Amino acid sequence: MVAQRRLLGRLRELMARGAGSLPELVRLVAGELVSEVCSVYTLKPGDILELLATEGLRPDSVGRTRLRVGEGIIGMVAATGAPLNLPDAQNHPAFAYRPETGEENFASMLAVPVRRAGRTLGVIAVQNRNPRRFDPGEVEELETVAMLLAEVLSAAGAEESAAEGLGATVPRRFPATVLVPGLAMGPVVVLGAAPPPGRMLADNTGEELARLDRAVATMQQGIDALIEAGLPQEAAGAASAASREILDAYRLVAADAGWLKRVGDAIRGGLSAEAAVHRVAGDLRDRMRRITDPYLRERLADLEDLAGRLLAALGGPGAVKTAPPGAILLARRLGPAEVLDWHSRGIAGFVVEEGSASSHAAILARALGLPAVAGARGVLETAEDGDEAIIDADDSPAGGLAGCQVLLRPEQDLRRVYLRAVEAREARQAGFAALRDLPAETRDGTQVSLMLNVGLALELAQLDATAAAGIGLFRTEIAMLARGAIADVPEQAAAYARVLDAAGDRPVLFRTLDLGGDKLLPGNELPAEENPAMGWRSLRIGLDRPALLRRQLRALLLAAGGRPLSVMFPMVATVAEFRAARALLDAEAAKVRPAPAALRVGTMLEVPALMFQLPELLKAVDFISVGTNDLMQFLFAADRSTPSLAARYDLLSPPMLDLLATLAEQCRAAGVALSVCGEAAARPIEAMTLVGLGIETLSMPASGIFPVKSLLRSLDLGEFRRVLAAIRRTAGGAASLREPITAWAREHGLEIDRT
Ligand code: PEP
Ligand code: MG
Repeated sequence: MVAQRRLLGRLRELMARGAGSLPELVRLVAGELVSEVCSVYTLKPGDILELLATEGLRPDSVGRTRLRVGEGIIGMVAATGAPLNLPDAQNHPAFAYRPETGEENFASMLAVPVRRAGRTLGVIAVQNRNPRRFDPGEVEELETVAMLLAEVLSAAGAEESAAEGLGATVPRRFPATVLVPGLAMGPVVVLGAAPPPGRMLADNTGEELARLDRAVATMQQGIDALIEAGLPQEAAGAASAASREILDAYRLVAADAGWLKRVGDAIRGGLSAEAAVHRVAGDLRDRMRRITDPYLRERLADLEDLAGRLLAALGGPGAVKTAPPGAILLARRLGPAEVLDWHSRGIAGFVVEEGSASSHAAILARALGLPAVAGARGVLETAEDGDEAIIDADDSPAGGLAGCQVLLRPEQDLRRVYLRAVEAREARQAGFAALRDLPAETRDGTQVSLMLNVGLALELAQLDATAAAGIGLFRTEIAMLARGAIADVPEQAAAYARVLDAAGDRPVLFRTLDLGGDKLLPGNELPAEENPAMGWRSLRIGLDRPALLRRQLRALLLAAGGRPLSVMFPMVATVAEFRAARALLDAEAAKVRPAPAALRVGTMLEVPALMFQLPELLKAVDFISVGTNDLMQFLFAADRSTPSLAARYDLLSPPMLDLLATLAEQCRAAGVALSVCGEAAARPIEAMTLVGLGIETLSMPASGIFPVKSLLRSLDLGEFRRVLAAIRRTAGGAASLREPITAWAREHGLEIDRT
């Protein structure tokens, strides 16, 4: 910390001299981080990164060495906005060799993006001859330097060149994804990233810490007032209960000592209070980019929302922007309190560049009936306050004019068309509410069991809201990931008992801890693996470290307290693994009294190898639940979190449908219950096909229940089964059968687009 303060002090002197001081800056940083090389690259028009200053690489490569964004380690850091810490950079697949630099002599590299107001301006990197991983303190130090460097580069005009080419005034269209379906039109309000603080370094650390304390108190009062003012009346029933839980959780995060301590530490390291908050928020943003688990991403998004509030409480800019009624809000991200805030100011909908349908912001927006979309890349840079915009997230068969999109500065004719669509939509909305109390059965009388996937207590309210048949997948690891630690047995038992209480007579399938892969608990870092999704994760950890799994099984048995209990194991690859897990459960069950009224033990089917062990598996299990998310990734060898592969392989493809049909037949013959609990079950056309294959229990996120129910209620299942069989018979090697299945559904007037 003392070293960091000293470095910051020297940097302050250099910064005052502007870009001309860069050669000295790189020398200073190289010395401070005990590295032979320190280089700064700056972003030029055309997405080119140019070497601007270096200590340690050949001096004549300055101004000559160039990389495209995305090219080489430096280009990758600029493209992803995340640091890279590589002991052996030259053997990294992204490494791009530039002979003029002489960098073949250096093995390790730490590269950090230089960003300002959400925009990448360049990259700073240090290199060492010896292979070594830079420690977290060094990474933090270089990130702080990057923050200061951003000011120098910005003053030197890097921002203008990075933004060149953007900002036309003609009508523009941005494809997006739906968070909350709906249509909205209105003038735009652009919520840019908070500008960096004017004063970076602390003159008096004690005074900065006191300012932080005062600002935290102001922020917390503000949040309390916002929550007490409450959700408006229209967020009724379970939606309101769920929203309240989100806001309560948010209030807890606001008081969480962990991130506030990090802000305090950054002040003690020499930064002003504003710069320290900025710094911690920047770290959070970087961490968020690397996490694929939606729940964890949300928790970090909450923290970022709080950081914005804290900056406002410190007297910073932002947060007080106004919106005309009916405005459309454009933001990089939104946290739950911000959604509430802006809703109370009368916005008609919002667009976020980053966000998922399961985000807290989206859940709240749904409760408030606020149309929302995510994606729409580039809209933030293009739009200006007051521009007219349309959010088209319409999901009606007659609507969906051109897929989900944001239209900026639309032509008059287009506006008229959308105005009519808005009116038609309002008329249609009334119909959904009526579905809740109608049975989930096909037109020709087959009952389908529609269940919920649940991970947090706040989702339990959706059981009653949707009248679901039970919980077909309770992801036990999610609550632990959200709280950042594994709860002890009594705490776990209490949490599971609350789930069973909420479900009442409805069944709950508890899945044991599915940790590993990208679901990591802080402090429990697993050994680095090349392919963590296929690595030492999930039940594999449970069987190799049985104490953890046994404690969880005991907690589940205690929670049941004599009620029926269903437990399933994730990522089972062999019957032997299932038997070993079941033996652990049986051993615990022998000790816990009262014993559950019935103990049902099942497996997730996520690993294709289980299909080749069906005869033995079916003898060993009471039920099977197909996790299509993982099964798809392992069947097609396609990473589920790689965006470019998301649409490449289809559940509605001959291999997957053959697999599921075989499984359904064999389960039926063996009298083993079968369900599907991957996200696919929430999509009407997939749900219809699964039922068509004979899988009549589907578990899904709450948002899927009504659209799926609506479709099933108008489906003639008998006829569809005949058609599906014919489509499969004549597949002729097609990669997907989606088109003929969808065409048949459309011809028969089925509502396959409702979400
Ligand atoms: C699945 O893999 O389909 C599944 C339901 O489990 P998770 O998404 O939690 O991996
Ligand atoms: Mg899975």
